[in-house]
Amino acid sequence: MVLWTTEVKAVPPNSANDKLLAILACPKCHGSLKSIDEPEGFACESCGLLYGVDDGLPNMLIDDARPWPEGGAEASS
Ligand SMILES: [Zn+2]
Repeated sequence: MVLWTTEVKAVPPNSANDKLLAILACPKCHGSLKSIDEPEGFACESCGLLYGVDDGLPNMLIDDARPWPEGGAEASS
């Protein structure tokens, strides 16, 4: 498991996603989120949920979150 948050300070500050990640936390577990490009969104590795982006704004509703990674743990059944 990568301790992603420890690497944030090394990332250039001109990324919109990085700015969002500085203020966004998982609404379910309050853990740090990981920016995902495909599909676009913010993933919580603790919960295994992906919060999507609607019209350029993160949708942080737990009810709208999808399982992540897609086809991950559930696909093994
Ligand atoms: Zn979480």
